[in-house]
Amino acid sequence: MSNLTGKTALVTGASRGIGRAIAQRLASDGARVAIHYGSNESAARETIEAIQAAGGAAFPVRADLAVASGVDTLFDTLTAHLDGAPLDILVNNAAIMTYEATLDEATPEQFERLFAINARAPFFILQRALPVLPDGGRVVNISSGVTWFAIPQTVYAMTKGALNAMTRSAANTLGARGITVNTVSPGITDTEMNAWLHETDEASSGIAAITALDRVGRSPDIADVVAFLASDDARWVTGQTLEVNGGLYLG
Ligand code: NDP
Repeated sequence: MSNLTGKTALVTGASRGIGRAIAQRLASDGARVAIHYGSNESAARETIEAIQAAGGAAFPVRADLAVASGVDTLFDTLTAHLDGAPLDILVNNAAIMTYEATLDEATPEQFERLFAINARAPFFILQRALPVLPDGGRVVNISSGVTWFAIPQTVYAMTKGALNAMTRSAANTLGARGITVNTVSPGITDTEMNAWLHETDEASSGIAAITALDRVGRSPDIADVVAFLASDDARWVTGQTLEVNGGLYLG
């Protein structure tokens, strides 16, 4: 377990699912964590209470990233909490999946919303974070394996491809400051985004059957890898994509 004592982290979409697990793991490593969420206040509160019950520190940051002003809203709250301290770790995790937005059915409105939350927001959050990220800071972008395996939801996959491109380019730009920028790409992970996993008996076993480690992913499986990238142990890793999927589609 790494020591993030004295550091502050922002995890977007930390009210639920993978983001919650990342926030809990970074807090247990000693970081004070900004728990960003869009609208689910009670879920954000649950994340904070779990962190505090375990002896960690966290505070809420509400901002709807579907609207362009959401990034300003986020930084208004975050800056007040930072009170002049640096933001050591940024995890761009918040995203939506729109199952109906397939190649033949996606509407311009769905396209705009997916790109706004999944690609525009991470870019402008990183841009706004640049003055408060210290030399040696850490940025982790949560992408998806759908950048290399095909799904019907073309627009969602496109947003994640954009995020991968952002990682490489930003890593090169920020390397001179010792800031690392990496991508973690989960495979199929049991969260509310994948409610279908619980809709039939076969869904989970079908995913396990195409996964070398023979089960569906869990949020802490992803969070532990993000914690590694946020730690000093990962100081020589930048511009990379880590596929964290238990060996999905290995053959
Ligand atoms: P969830 O649907 O469980 O949680 C999504 C999070 O994003 C919530 O905290 C939610 O906040 C926030 N969010 C959604 N819309 C907005 C918005 N408009 N403004 C601000 N915040 C918003 O997702 P997962 O935990 O499953 O996914 C986390 C990340 O992992 C995403 O980037 C996803 O694309 C990626 N991923 C997930 C996989 C999986 O199998 N689950 C596989 C591959 C990648 P609120 O609670 O307020 O709604």
